[in-house]
Amino acid sequence: MRIERIFRLSFFVFLAALWLAGGGSAQTGVPAEVLRHADMILINGKVVTADKDFSSQEAVAIRDGKILAVGPTPRIRPLAGPRTKVVDLQGRAVIPGLIDSHMHFLRAGFTWAREVRLDQARSVQEVLSLVEKRGKQLKPGEWILTFGGWHYGQLKEGRAPARQELDRVLRRAAVPLALRKLPRASFEEKVQGLKLVIRDFHAAGLTGVIETIGGGVSDDDLQVLFEAWRRNELTIRTALLIYTGSLKDGQRWMRHLPMGFGDDWLRVNGFGERLVAAVQDSIAPAFPLKPEGLEEYRKFAGEAARNRWSIQQHTTLGTTAKAFLDIFEEVDRRHPIRDLRWSLAHVELISEADIRRVKRLGMGLTIQDRQVIGSELMGQAWGDAAASGPPLKKMLEIGVPVGAGTDATVVAPYQPFTTLWWLVSGKNWAGRVVRPNDRISREDALRMHTVGSAWFSFDEKVKGSIEPGKLADLVVLTDDYLTVPEDRIRDIRSVMTIVGGRIVYEAK
Ligand SMILES: [Zn+2]
Repeated sequence: MRIERIFRLSFFVFLAALWLAGGGSAQTGVPAEVLRHADMILINGKVVTADKDFSSQEAVAIRDGKILAVGPTPRIRPLAGPRTKVVDLQGRAVIPGLIDSHMHFLRAGFTWAREVRLDQARSVQEVLSLVEKRGKQLKPGEWILTFGGWHYGQLKEGRAPARQELDRVLRRAAVPLALRKLPRASFEEKVQGLKLVIRDFHAAGLTGVIETIGGGVSDDDLQVLFEAWRRNELTIRTALLIYTGSLKDGQRWMRHLPMGFGDDWLRVNGFGERLVAAVQDSIAPAFPLKPEGLEEYRKFAGEAARNRWSIQQHTTLGTTAKAFLDIFEEVDRRHPIRDLRWSLAHVELISEADIRRVKRLGMGLTIQDRQVIGSELMGQAWGDAAASGPPLKKMLEIGVPVGAGTDATVVAPYQPFTTLWWLVSGKNWAGRVVRPNDRISREDALRMHTVGSAWFSFDEKVKGSIEPGKLADLVVLTDDYLTVPEDRIRDIRSVMTIVGGRIVYEAK
């Protein structure tokens, strides 16, 4: 009897055996998922799915980079075959991969290899020991850089380390240096630097970002991102916003690049956070908007709408938010923008009336924890208004899409659990309550930092929660985010980060 006949016969015997085992489904009589085993299963844990019921399960199965099934361990374990990777979570918590909907990580790679990150420092002594440790990792004569992400106000002494203190730990002169005097990184150093940033982001629990470039990055530097993507080393899902300064810039990009171009790892996601330099506000309380700047912006927004491009616009002040919404409503009358998911970012001082206009336009808002280290500056600039900015509860009440993030790595720390802690506790890094009336639940905060952020890259149906069919982006945590004492939320990190079913980070 010819070999394939023997094979076909044994296969049908196998199927029949399974069917007899009571697993048969209506059509084939064999449960689909048994036909081919899972690539990985994670069992005996607390899988926080962040689905619409915010349900938790014990286990999850992954195949072909996607979630195959979630459920009790006894239902998931049989999906494992001889080659399936089985991860026993031993009760650990798992959440969907965290997505930062507004940050600047490309340029961070230019200096990351030489930086000492002080994001989590709480005292001058801690800063000095971090600098000393970094100094020992670098060769004599190499620069140690610290590039934002911290503010002396977060240190219990309320001051930065003195130069003499730094001299002592460095056994050589510490000098404040202007950016332009920094030794420039080569193309390859920038690509390698980006990999280091991504490694640290995965360790912090991040699996996706909306990258908004920012100052200090040339158009050619985008090649660094494309190169990491070409090498399959861009393991953090990146929705790319194009950062421009003028209408002319924008027109050039709209001529050469289609909105939405790319794949699940890197995709063109629109313009932002700056379109026209002249109307880019700051935290300074008054920012006069010049008519010619607004006119250029009106034209830019009109062309973006006509070409179906999305926009995420930097907006700190209430006055600026109002001006942009005036223009968006005008543009919407000519070119409806509802399905373009335009958004305003930061919005610490946006009014309730303007949040309602955002809702009517089908837009969303991305919020960042800039206040965690910027609370002193914001308090000086805005007075009491700083204590309720951004107005999160009002946003949830009105029901606008809200995405969470950091605006890191310069103006804020990059760790998403710092943001989650800030959202829930209303505290700044020094531990002082700076937003007493606007704290939100852990569930709402986690949603903002997962499926909430995914909305801004048109991805809420493919990522942001642990549900069958979605991309298998998830994080095994050092602690249970839903039950750990509030002040320890900021210390939670990843034990294992999985993107597309691939382990991209594992704690040692
Ligand atoms: Zn920004």
